[in-house]
Amino acid sequence: MTDTELSPSAASALVGHTTGAEWLSRYSASLMGVFGTPQRVLVRGAGCLVWDADGKEYLDLLGGIAVNALGHANPFVTSVISSQLATLGHVSNFFTSPTQIALAEKLLALAHAPAGSKVFFANSGTEAVEAAFKLARRNATGPNGAPRTKIIALEGAFHGRTMGALALTAKEAYRAPFEPLPGGVVHIPFGDVAALEAAIDETVAAVFLEPIQGEAGVRPLPAGYLKAAREATTKAGALLILDEVQTGIGRTGKWLASEDAGIVPDAVTLAKGLGGGFPIGALITFGEQTSSLLTAGQHGTTFGGNPVATAAALATLHAIDSQRVLENVATVGDYLRTGLAGVDGVTEVRGEGLLIGFDLDADVAPAVVAASLDAGFIVNAPGPHTIRLAPPLVLTTEQAGTFLAALPVLLQTAKDAQ
Ligand SMILES: *Cc1c(COP(=O)(O)O)cnc(C)c1O
Repeated sequence: MTDTELSPSAASALVGHTTGAEWLSRYSASLMGVFGTPQRVLVRGAGCLVWDADGKEYLDLLGGIAVNALGHANPFVTSVISSQLATLGHVSNFFTSPTQIALAEKLLALAHAPAGSKVFFANSGTEAVEAAFKLARRNATGPNGAPRTKIIALEGAFHGRTMGALALTAKEAYRAPFEPLPGGVVHIPFGDVAALEAAIDETVAAVFLEPIQGEAGVRPLPAGYLKAAREATTKAGALLILDEVQTGIGRTGKWLASEDAGIVPDAVTLAKGLGGGFPIGALITFGEQTSSLLTAGQHGTTFGGNPVATAAALATLHAIDSQRVLENVATVGDYLRTGLAGVDGVTEVRGEGLLIGFDLDADVAPAVVAASLDAGFIVNAPGPHTIRLAPPLVLTTEQAGTFLAALPVLLQTAKDAQ
């Protein structure tokens, strides 16, 4: 093959163009059915907008499920990724690279991690959680050598789909087909401090908590819960592990959603927004003792912490910082929540920053998603009467306003379609 045959270099030249309907019929014939039928075939994005194969434009209020922190095709992130890939793309874990080290240092700084804290890089949220699960297993013995056999998670929890993370995930429909799952995980009632304190003793290795349960419909833990969890786990010698895969990296207007809780956790998982759309996950372990639970040879991954993914994350963090993105998240998040609360048919609005859930007065959320798509808005229905928004952190007030203005009609359309 000559160089001429290899140009032009865009992937679209390799796959060709056809209609959305034709792509979807080819999808059904070639892709495993685990996601059902995709709603649209997307071909291009810019900022908070995306376009489908038929040329229709959408305002993306889901951001790839809290992933596209800086929107689509951010020029700065794109150029950092491209130039890193053109310089050095992959090295294996027999070697390291400057971007990997710089990103680890940056994450420790933004998490206010004390001396001795460390980072493990993975490629996704579920892998970050798997690493945390293995960390928890290494907190193996309690006082007098008694085994720590239990791990606590909450009802409604979502921690991922691989076997260890799935054992922590609560939803029966996700778990049941795959049992037996790794053992010892106990799910306790959500947000109930008394239940938490009753469950934690010296047989518990770790407690896994999401500061805001995203998949459960954006349910924040009640004020004081994280503090109570920290006190109870410290007393029993159990690890407190916060899953900030969805809530971390500016999503709530803070670097970490747990930032203001006044606690130091033992570990934090990150992923979704970290790479600004590029796949990367991370486990941060706090302090020397927790950071030395996993020793040489006890965990690993081929792609984890590769130069391109870590460059993407460095670029994302730099842009969030230098463009004052966290302030935008707070402003636009408040604007959206206030606006939503005033819409007829919206019964409750939850969340922080640009992670927002709102409940409807009827079980029409999937129909609202469909009506929104037809009207050019991408939103998500984590439950029958709940809509979730997790847009790019750079969403403008004006863009948010177009959705608020459209929502009454979208709700009516959804009800009429029932
Ligand atoms: C999405 C999510 C995960 C899993 O991340 P993947 O990248 O999909 O594997 C884990 N925990 C939480 C809180 C999440 O929102």
